[in-house]
Amino acid sequence: MKKVTFTVTYEENPRTLSELSAIEIKLLRRVLEICAEAKAAGNHPFGCLLADKDGNILMEQGNEEVTLGGDCTAHAEALLMRKASQIYSKEEMNAFTLYNCADSCAMCTGAMYWGNLGRHVYIASEDSLRLVTGDDLRNPTLNLPSRVVIASGQKLMEIIGPIPELEGDFLALHEGYWKPSSQKSMN
Ligand SMILES: [Zn+2]
Repeated sequence: MKKVTFTVTYEENPRTLSELSAIEIKLLRRVLEICAEAKAAGNHPFGCLLADKDGNILMEQGNEEVTLGGDCTAHAEALLMRKASQIYSKEEMNAFTLYNCADSCAMCTGAMYWGNLGRHVYIASEDSLRLVTGDDLRNPTLNLPSRVVIASGQKLMEIIGPIPELEGDFLALHEGYWKPSSQKSMN
């Protein structure tokens, strides 16, 4: 059997609110509202938006996995990238930022990569999210930061996050929502 060792080096890039512009904070707060709207519609509490360099919102997207009949690819970022890449050129996408509630899974980071997104800003780390979702089959969060996926590619994407001061507001939407196996066995 051939054994392959795979090593990727990446740097975390956390931000305090004081290091973000007022526009970026407003966009991230809007992302939290999109998460709440997705949850109210019966979907999982995730959301994101696409903005141009001036902070104008070009597109908003919540998770639609439930309302799309269990479509396992209907994560907010994957849906947004699919739609945006049909409207904007790869050059245009490279100038845009996707503001996200949490670091992206491998699938969604892949969509960002193929769509030539220039910048990804997220609130919660995958680690924080994994602690609340556990292995719930609806969202068995990976331990594969978007930086690792992107670092394995052939081009750069600026990635900023986590933003710890906003993490609590995001994770509050997930309280009691997920049922990891450790909780299921107690029920
Ligand atoms: Zn995803």
